[in-house]
Amino acid sequence: MPRHIVCLTFDFDTASGFIARGLTTPTPLSRGEFGRIGARRILELLKRYDAPGTWFTPGFTIESFPAECEAIVAAGHEIGHHSWAHVPPASQSRAEEEADMARAIESIVKLTGAAPRGYRSPSWDLSDATIELLVANGFDYDSSLMGADYEPYKARNGDRGKVGEPFHFGRETDLMEMPISWTMDDHPHFEFYRTPDFLMPGLQSPRAVMESWKDEFTYMKKITDWGILTYTMHPYVIGRGYRMLAFEGLMDFLGSEGAVFLTMADAAREARARLFP
Ligand SMILES: [Zn+2]
Repeated sequence: MPRHIVCLTFDFDTASGFIARGLTTPTPLSRGEFGRIGARRILELLKRYDAPGTWFTPGFTIESFPAECEAIVAAGHEIGHHSWAHVPPASQSRAEEEADMARAIESIVKLTGAAPRGYRSPSWDLSDATIELLVANGFDYDSSLMGADYEPYKARNGDRGKVGEPFHFGRETDLMEMPISWTMDDHPHFEFYRTPDFLMPGLQSPRAVMESWKDEFTYMKKITDWGILTYTMHPYVIGRGYRMLAFEGLMDFLGSEGAVFLTMADAAREARARLFP
């Protein structure tokens, strides 16, 4: 019997990403703060559709907005690791990355009573040390790489690319990779973002974006009997009213098409048992 799994994942960054990029004046901080309202709306929607979600939540958010984070846990959703300070690991030394990872694990243990099963890197850029650190810290899965779409795979440690040389494949680890893509992420589609040397126009029609997101599910169903599709959203982005309406439309579609909603931890467990028995 075909089984098509959907992971609804929410990167609950609030202001951490703005602060990590040096945007610390009141207005960018308030853009992140809007995530509290977005989170409330998403929780209500997930409850209505009886769908579990995975919330990759930085330690910063856990300590700054404890009530919202406790509500997520109380509703039965998964809390995933998303660093403490939302600084991309590739820009940190190994010692800095290790310390930040440990601090964020501690925040999650305090919130949920257990260590996180999964990790997603801020800005989806791993360092050369990340996979090794995740294995050493007992993580079950990572969700930061783009080497596949519907079929998880084993993350490799030590992939290398060098101009003029063929691709060097690193050593396979036991960490499940739950692949993602910028195409299935709300942030680049919707978020208007400008710095002196960078412009991200965003502000696309959410209904148009959701048509593409629906097509992605339809294609997965067409070519495979079993697969996992991951959508990534940010409460301060998707939480705006007209985007929430479009998100509801996506949920109606997925429900009518027989999607099975799982937390990423459960999906990773199923993928491991099925693909690597
Ligand atoms: Zn993030």
